[in-house]
Amino acid sequence: MTVPMVHAHAVRKHFGHLEVLKGIDLDVQAGEVVVILGPSGSGKSTFLRCVNHLEAIDGGSIFVDGELIGFQESGGKVRHLRKSEITRQRREIGMVFQQFNLFPHFTVLQNVMEAPVGVRREPRGQARERALGLLRRVGLEDKAGSYPRQLSGGQQQRVAIARALAMRPKLMLFDEPTSALDPELVGEVLATMKGLAEDGLTMIVVTHEIGFAREVADRVVFMDGGVVVESGTPKEVLDNPTSPRTKAFLSRVL
Ligand code: ADP
Ligand code: MG
Repeated sequence: MTVPMVHAHAVRKHFGHLEVLKGIDLDVQAGEVVVILGPSGSGKSTFLRCVNHLEAIDGGSIFVDGELIGFQESGGKVRHLRKSEITRQRREIGMVFQQFNLFPHFTVLQNVMEAPVGVRREPRGQARERALGLLRRVGLEDKAGSYPRQLSGGQQQRVAIARALAMRPKLMLFDEPTSALDPELVGEVLATMKGLAEDGLTMIVVTHEIGFAREVADRVVFMDGGVVVESGTPKEVLDNPTSPRTKAFLSRVL
């Protein structure tokens, strides 16, 4: 058995008295695309944020590529990671948000080069070549010299994807990457993501785009109320859901 890219077991998270994750179990194999569906407030973003160290978990454990991310309780012992370990792990996990958060005063090329040069200390020439290659991959090589404000939302989101890829992540997390876009711009971003999936990138995608889930996902996970309610192939979960909660959700979004 190979080590899964993500292994989450009994993950719990609360904010004050609000229990947001109530024991999440999820494995993602290398090269797999997992789409997480679920109503607003079900804990999808929180779960992604825990995988990427943006939130600390309160119970259970998360491993990425065999390495501990969250703490593990064994015999009451809690293992905390060193800051340097956390920083290194975060670099290997790319995240794309609903809001693209590009640096407005940087060109598209500078946005994509920033982390490789500033964080990974890549030589500028090499980082530039790679950045141009990534912009080609997201279909925006001709926009290298433009500023974010000169781009459409869909183009900005594709730059954000290229910027995340520039750190050579072994895992990419997408949190509703098309939810802030005008409907006519959604397709170009989903097409870009489909291309990454076909290239074998391991991806966890939170989205309400059922068509994308059906076409691209290896597995669909339905979350509600801080638990995984149902998980399976797109056909199983989307066409033959077993849980009434999944059925009710799908009837609202389909
Ligand atoms: P989803 O992404 O599925 O819509 P979230 O993970 O964003 O759900 O949120 C789950 C619940 O946790 C919501 O009730 C939300 O209000 C709450 N929550 C999320 N982040 C915080 C926070 N930093 N502090 C307090 N409550 C939060
Ligand atoms: Mg969310």
